[in-house]
Amino acid sequence: MHRTHTCGELRIAHVGEEVTLSGWVQRRRDFGAMTFIDLRDRYGITQLSFNEELDQKLNTEARSLGREFVIKVKGVVIERSNKNAHIPTGDIEIQVREFEVLNAALTPPFTIEDETDGGEEIRLKYRYLDLRRNPIQDKIILRSKLNKAVRDYLNDADFIDVETPVLIKSTPEGARDFVVPSRMNEGQYYALPQSPQTFKQLLMVSGLDKYYQIVKCFRDEDFRADRQPEFTQIDCEMSFVEREDVLSTFEGMIRSVFKKVKDIALGDIPILTYDEAIRRFGSDKPDMRFGMELIDIDEVTKGNGFGVFDNADSVVAINVAGGNAYTRKQLDELTNWVKRPQIGALGMIYCRVNEDGTYKSSVDKFFNPDQLAKWAETCQSQPNDLILVLSGDKDKVRKQMNELRLFVADQEGLRAKDQFKGCWVVDFPLVEYDEESDKWHAMHHPFTSPIPEDREYMKSDPSRVKANAYDMAINGMEVGGGSIRIHDKELQKQMFDLLGFSEEEAQEQFGFLMNAFEYGAPPHGGIAFGLDRLAAILAGTDSIRDVIAFPKNNMGRDVMIDAPAPLNADQQKELGL
Ligand code: ASP
Repeated sequence: MHRTHTCGELRIAHVGEEVTLSGWVQRRRDFGAMTFIDLRDRYGITQLSFNEELDQKLNTEARSLGREFVIKVKGVVIERSNKNAHIPTGDIEIQVREFEVLNAALTPPFTIEDETDGGEEIRLKYRYLDLRRNPIQDKIILRSKLNKAVRDYLNDADFIDVETPVLIKSTPEGARDFVVPSRMNEGQYYALPQSPQTFKQLLMVSGLDKYYQIVKCFRDEDFRADRQPEFTQIDCEMSFVEREDVLSTFEGMIRSVFKKVKDIALGDIPILTYDEAIRRFGSDKPDMRFGMELIDIDEVTKGNGFGVFDNADSVVAINVAGGNAYTRKQLDELTNWVKRPQIGALGMIYCRVNEDGTYKSSVDKFFNPDQLAKWAETCQSQPNDLILVLSGDKDKVRKQMNELRLFVADQEGLRAKDQFKGCWVVDFPLVEYDEESDKWHAMHHPFTSPIPEDREYMKSDPSRVKANAYDMAINGMEVGGGSIRIHDKELQKQMFDLLGFSEEEAQEQFGFLMNAFEYGAPPHGGIAFGLDRLAAILAGTDSIRDVIAFPKNNMGRDVMIDAPAPLNADQQKELGL
């Protein structure tokens, strides 16, 4: 028998029992007559003791055990004289009577402890060792719980788990496809799914009614921080539903997941329109854990001879509660921060709201105290607050202000990782105009329906057409998105038309879907959640890499197996490449 207990199991009540444990040597401490070893497995750490007085040979042999050796020990549980309150097994230790080396280990390239000395790249290269560390293991275990909570909820709600193919034809979700050459069909390629979008819609035509799948999706995007070329979605679709049905079903799922995984009851999840989200937060995935909303102050700032404001499309402020405590240096740093190319503001104006009712702004030359009082009134500032102002092009300035709002909130500690606030954003624009290609692009994807009232403008004024689409954001991160779909062939044709697909192109790429729509397609809609992102939020980490067992680095490489890699000549020939 390899073990009677795990390394996380034994307590004071077990004292006197003879036990067998197996695990890895985390650490060895030699004290003359005594040797101590921390034995580790996924469940915890148990201290082993070897006593020269009891068995001199055994104590000497124990000293040959190196870090990460796999051993099996037999011994008796005794009470520790020196207890460790930090670990659950800290009251006891195993007085070892015999042990066996199950496998020796090379010295690991970094310490396998909660705080390791290994950098990211080396840890990715030896990911199997990194995965021995508790903080990493905990996240993978959390992810498994999340998976289970999702499946339980959806299974209970009568969803059917259906696998869709991985070797498919390109789906247009806006990114590039990964492609796979077909040996049997030389010169032809499969694409890996960016999502199972068209298949799940076809399943609705088939009458499967409620579908889900926890599924790998692939997008060949330029590498940005925290993107993975392959990622996991909780992909869902339902028939005979309207937006409200989808929102309530999946709000339920998210609530259930937070309850089961973190024992947290999520508060209300407000529904904002896209326009409202942009107006109030400058973002379509607002972080609603705190206020500090965007305030338009054009009316109280323009026409005073300050060219920066007068010539701007839009002047926007946020009010930082208690922000008057910022030093001049901190304000300069904030100004430099918004001027970085990533943010792109030309500058930042501030106004201090002093305790004694006076104001001190960076534009005192142009604005007298009465005028500054108007700013404060518009921003509902209290004494000791700070008003931060950006100006410029309408859309740009809102985006910049969103960044500044988040940055200041970070500094102010308003974005605690253990607090969660979600929201829905609905009524996105259906299409966006892209100047470069002189084309309209689907903001979500081409299968998203317009809201019925706007359908008549699809030809005459596409920019005003709202989509029957919705996203869920939690803590300022998009965690899911979907839409009520187009289910009639005519409207789908109109949409392809708007997106600049010729009849032939549409037929070639999506003929199968449009044909299916001719055989009785029910009204349907769905959503997909990013499982990695959700897991990262629940685990309180900023990086989805932390919640993926074997992630790629930020160049899209798996540095452990060293992929991607060239093919050898024979393979290339066989594939006709
Ligand atoms: N297929 C969409 C996506 O991956 C989600 C959906 O519309 O259900 O973003």
